Amino acid sequence: MTSPMFEKIALVGIGLIGSSLARVIRREGLAGHVAISTRSAATLARARELGLGSSYTTDAKEAARDADLVIVSVPVGSSGAVAQEIAPALKQGAILTDVGSTKASVIAQMQPHVPGGVHFIPGHPLAGTEKSGPDAGFADLFDNRWCIFTPLPDTDPEALERLSEFWRRCGANIDTMDPQHHDMTLAIVSHLPHIIAYNIVGTADDLESVTKTEVIKYSASGFRDFTRLAASDPTMWRDVCLHNKDAILEMLARFSEDLAFLQRAIRWGDGDKLFDLFTRTRAVRRSIIEAGQDIDAPDFGRQAVERPAKS
Ligand code: NAP
Repeated sequence: MTSPMFEKIALVGIGLIGSSLARVIRREGLAGHVAISTRSAATLARARELGLGSSYTTDAKEAARDADLVIVSVPVGSSGAVAQEIAPALKQGAILTDVGSTKASVIAQMQPHVPGGVHFIPGHPLAGTEKSGPDAGFADLFDNRWCIFTPLPDTDPEALERLSEFWRRCGANIDTMDPQHHDMTLAIVSHLPHIIAYNIVGTADDLESVTKTEVIKYSASGFRDFTRLAASDPTMWRDVCLHNKDAILEMLARFSEDLAFLQRAIRWGDGDKLFDLFTRTRAVRRSIIEAGQDIDAPDFGRQAVERPAKS
């Protein structure tokens, strides 16, 4: 058996992402000791029942003490407070990383608290589901998904390579980019789709001319696919909207312009414009399948690729 990559890994936050990490770390034998910490006693008790780690505490500082790798997996709006709390316990030479869906804001919140001699490497695995909490995680979550790092100008290349190797062993592919580019890219590929889904589901819920029963009964005609995204964790997505405000507003402005174009084509009966757009977008779906980021199956293959939670 190969020796673990890290003697002690601390997981601060043990929801969907933290618990998926715990499971894959155990499966791959990546740590000698996995210290688990979460804010509430209830979530901690569940993590313990699931046997996700080696030690359990609601004191994030205690978990981070002596850890060689600390991974913060909490809603992005809480990352600064967590960094402040654990900072005094971080050991020299440790790697501190996060998994937050926005990067510029997380860096602004966390970096001021990071002690000299600790390698802070912001990260974001592009993998998830609409579920949350420790039961929602699974070891395959990161398989063939991208993990993006947004290193700081003075990031130690050796620490970055070590963290990259860790994520590769968790199943992920690695990319690096600057935080602003990350936030703009994610605004279109992740944040806007969620906002649109929240909006359309909210609109349907408000409609009075169509009854709620009809919305549910006939949902398989399209609406249903939006409800999966719109069922995502409200705290996480509130924080994403508040912490990637500029990029999201920029993408929403473009989206509104394009929607007006579509609206106009429908109003004027311009079938060619509609057909051209719908043909172009169909090709995007094909490219995603070819890139191995989805499979061509009913329900987008979700039932096949998303395994039920297991400990
Ligand atoms: P989750 O399942 O809701 O788990 C959140 C964890 O953070 C729990 O351990 C929770 O503790 C803790 N937490 C919540 N509020 C906190 C606060 N104010 N202070 C300290 N800890 C707090 O969330 P998740 O889906 O794993 O997301 C975690 C991070 O990953 C977020 O930054 C998110 O942007 C990012 N991310 C999510 C996805 C996704 O699809 N879900 C994908 C990629 C990245 P208690 O339960 O004990 O309160």
